[in-house]
Amino acid sequence: MKVPLLDLKAQYATIKPEIDAAVMSVMESQYFILGPEVEKLEKSLAEYLGVKHACGVSSGTDALLIALMAIDIQPGDEVIVPTFSFFATAGVVARLNAVPVFVDVDPVTFNIDPADIEKKITSRTKAIVPVHLYGQSAAMDEIMAIAQKHSLAVIEDGAQAIGVQYKDGRKVGTIGTIGCYSFFPSKNLGCFGDGGLVVTNDDVLAERLHIMRVHGGKPKYYHKIIGGNFRIDALQAAVLNVKLPHLDGWSAKRRENAALYTKLFCEKGLAEDTGRCAFDLNNAVLLPKAVYQDSGVTNYHIFNQYVIRVQQRDELRKFLSDSGIGNEIYYPVPFHRQECFAYLHSVDAEFPISNAAAADTIAVPIYPELTPEQIGYVVNTIAQFINKK
Ligand SMILES: *Cc1c(COP(=O)(O)O)cnc(C)c1O
Repeated sequence: MKVPLLDLKAQYATIKPEIDAAVMSVMESQYFILGPEVEKLEKSLAEYLGVKHACGVSSGTDALLIALMAIDIQPGDEVIVPTFSFFATAGVVARLNAVPVFVDVDPVTFNIDPADIEKKITSRTKAIVPVHLYGQSAAMDEIMAIAQKHSLAVIEDGAQAIGVQYKDGRKVGTIGTIGCYSFFPSKNLGCFGDGGLVVTNDDVLAERLHIMRVHGGKPKYYHKIIGGNFRIDALQAAVLNVKLPHLDGWSAKRRENAALYTKLFCEKGLAEDTGRCAFDLNNAVLLPKAVYQDSGVTNYHIFNQYVIRVQQRDELRKFLSDSGIGNEIYYPVPFHRQECFAYLHSVDAEFPISNAAAADTIAVPIYPELTPEQIGYVVNTIAQFINKK
């Protein structure tokens, strides 16, 4: 049996007539840059997310970049980021000649560890960038409290987490100063190319974001500030306008798939249905939690990625690939170990959780159109690997 990590064709098949009509209508209009489809998308997304302003941009990476530019991050400013994330989270900071300051993560959620944030704050710190990794919320209450205490901006990287509710019902990305999302095809809401979004409840920042998206000119050709070409295409907006009403249904399917994984792994005696089972005699696979409850925190997981922890991860990875099962390592090298950040002279021992995660995590297929048979095959294959060790 073949189980790809992601099957975009399967999703396209379920909405093809609507998508094709939407794309065709943009082609008929020959209106490609911003315009009515983008305005419609921004309005729908602001409503869906429960936020005052939404501004479509060219990618999730550019969403982070324009957000940092909008809050006026300057060369030498320090910006706190988790060391365990997709490269863009730290890359955008360095591109502005600011200093990414790395922080370790929580061992269960892999999200930025608030206690470690406090230790890394200096007089040059300007912002914190929590990432809602894999589709579950970072500890926003704790992070916002730290930000308030030290007068820092909070730029949420919600690239993997559009639609995730925080414990108080607010959607992640709308809690901090500016929220950033990606519409890269593999995200829960993906377009047919690159696209992204920034959101904020701050009127002044919203105006700055909209102006910076078109090179900072307002009126056109008169520049008080410097921006860039950070525009989203009308074609991408048209695709997203069709997909948005399906988003919550798809995320619910991902959660159902995760629940089936948990059930099957537990039936095989390879995992326990608890939040914090450790590697002991009976537990060979550490599972993510759909609802993670610990010290009063409740997180709702939409499983952009389904990431498990195992011993002998690299051997398992090969075994899965040989068995026709798609898989990926998110992420094999934390930022503090990246060659391009050697100049920061990070101390490796300060990041034990991220270092362990880089060595023992692996993502297996979780996309909405997966069948129960495919999920069964993945669990059986992992069981076979563990039992023959
Ligand atoms: C995908 C992703 C990004 C970047 O989004 P792009 O649209 O690919 O530029 C940023 N941060 C995280 C955590 C991501 O997963």
